Amino acid sequence: MQLEIINPANGKEIAKINQDNKASLSEKFNDLKKGQLDWQAKTVEQRRKIIMIFHDLLEKNIETLAEILTSEVGKPTQQSRNEINGARARISWLCSNAGKYLADEYMVEQEGMGEKIAYEPLGVICNISAWNYPYLVGINVIVPALLAGNTVLYKPSEFSSLTGLEIQKLLLEAGVPANVFEIAIGKGNIGAALLEMAFDGYFFTGSYKTGQYIYKKVAPKMVPCQIELGGKDPLYVTNDVEDLKNIAIGTADGAFYNNGQSCCSVERIYVQEKNYDAYVQAFVEEVKSWKAGLPTEEGVYLGALTRPEQIEILENQVKDALEKGAKLECGGKRINKPGNYFEPTVLSNVTNDMLVMQEESFGPIIGIMKVKDDEQAIHLMNDTDYGLTASVYSVSQKRAEAILTKVNSGTGYWNCCDRVSAALPWSGRKHSGFGATLSHAGIRAFTKPKAYHLRGDWKK
Ligand code: NAD
Repeated sequence: MQLEIINPANGKEIAKINQDNKASLSEKFNDLKKGQLDWQAKTVEQRRKIIMIFHDLLEKNIETLAEILTSEVGKPTQQSRNEINGARARISWLCSNAGKYLADEYMVEQEGMGEKIAYEPLGVICNISAWNYPYLVGINVIVPALLAGNTVLYKPSEFSSLTGLEIQKLLLEAGVPANVFEIAIGKGNIGAALLEMAFDGYFFTGSYKTGQYIYKKVAPKMVPCQIELGGKDPLYVTNDVEDLKNIAIGTADGAFYNNGQSCCSVERIYVQEKNYDAYVQAFVEEVKSWKAGLPTEEGVYLGALTRPEQIEILENQVKDALEKGAKLECGGKRINKPGNYFEPTVLSNVTNDMLVMQEESFGPIIGIMKVKDDEQAIHLMNDTDYGLTASVYSVSQKRAEAILTKVNSGTGYWNCCDRVSAALPWSGRKHSGFGATLSHAGIRAFTKPKAYHLRGDWKK
C-alpha cells in the first residue's frame, strides 16, 4: 500500500511512498532489539559526536529540507528554515548537556560506603509524532533517546512523512547504525499497530483524543508512556502595561505564527478593561498588515493550513462566536482557491463559553475578551481542559508570577509567549499530557535509574 502525499498549498499530489505493514514493523522492531546493546555499549561521547554530525548535516542541507517541509505542511519557507535552525539549537543543547545528566550520580560518598544512581537506557522506544513542527517535536524525543543509548522506531505523522524520511537519511549518513534508528510510515492504523508490540517505552506527541487512546492501550504493558498534547493557551494583558503597540505585535505573532498550528500558540487573550480597546485596535492593525498566500512566495507570513479538516472547525468556531454575540474584527472565512487557506481571524467581545475560547483551534483565529481584574483573569485562564502554557504581560514580575502560580499549566511566561527553551522542561498538565521533554528531565525521561549500594573500597 502506498501513502499519497498532498501539497496543502495547492491540493496536488507530490509523492507516493511505501507504507509499512505488520510484517515490516515487526522486522524493524527485531532489528532495533538486536542493535540496542551495541549502541548502549558506546560512550555518551561517541554517541554525541554522531548526533553532532547530524546537526551539521541539517545545516548543510537546510534549503532542500525547508523546501520539502514546506511542500508537505504548507508553512512559509522562511518558517521552515526557522524550524530547522531551532531544531539545531536544541540538538546543540542536548548534546552539550547529555554527558552531565547521563553520568553516574554519586549521592553518598563515605569511606566504606558509596551510593550512586546510574541512568540506564530504556531499551527500544517507540515515538509516534505530530506534523506541525516535525523537526522540533521529532528531535525532542529522537535525540535524547539516542544519546541515552536507546534504539528508536520513529513514526512521523502521515502529513510529514517526507520530512521523517529525510531525518532518517541524515541520521544514517551521520553514522547512526541502521539497526539503531528506524522509521514507520503510515496513518493512524500503523501507529495503532505499534501499540501491539513490546516496546520498552512509548513517547507520543499529538492530539488529546489519540493520546488518551495510546495511554490506555500502553497501560497494561507497565512501561513508561509519555504524552505531549494540545493546548488552549491563555494570555493576559494587565492594566499596568503601556507599550500596547509592541505588545500587540508580539502577541499577535504568538497567536498566528505557523498559522496558529503550534501546541503553544496563544489561543485565548484576556485584556484588563483600561487597555482593552487600544490593544484590540493595535492587534487587528498588525494582523491586517500580514501577507497571506503561497508558502513559497517571498514575504508570506501566513501559508496554507496543513489539514483540510481544520477549516470546518474554524468556520464552526466563527459561526458559534457570532451567534453568541462576538464581534468579527477581521477575517472569518476560508479563502476560495485550491489548497487549505483561511483568513486570519480576530474576534472581540467574546465570552468563555464560546467554542473559540474552549476547543483547541489550531488555526489562524483568536478571541479577545475584556476582564475586570486579576482574579477574574486567573479564573478564566484556568477555565479549560488544557494546561500547556500561560502568559502574563505586566510591568511587575511579582504580579505576573503571583498570577502564574495560580494557573495550572506546565509553562508560565512573563512578557513573552509561544516560546520553548531546550534548557527547560516542556510538559503539559490536564489534557495537555504529562511527562517532560527537553531540559535535564527530558534527557533522563529516556532512562531508568538504577540504585547502587557500594560497600567496601568503592571507586568512581
Ligand atoms: P494526531 O493525534 O491526529 O496524530 C498524531 C500521531 O498519532 C500521528 O502520527 C498519527 O498517525 C498517529 N495516530 C493517529 N491515530 C492513532 C492511533 N489510534 N494509534 C496510534 N497512533 C495514532 O495529532 P496531529 O494532528 O498529528 O497533531 C496535532 C496535535 O498535536 C495538536 O493537538 C497539537 O497541539 C499537538 N501537539 C502537541 C505538542 C506538545 O509538545 N505538547 C507539540 C506538537 C503538537
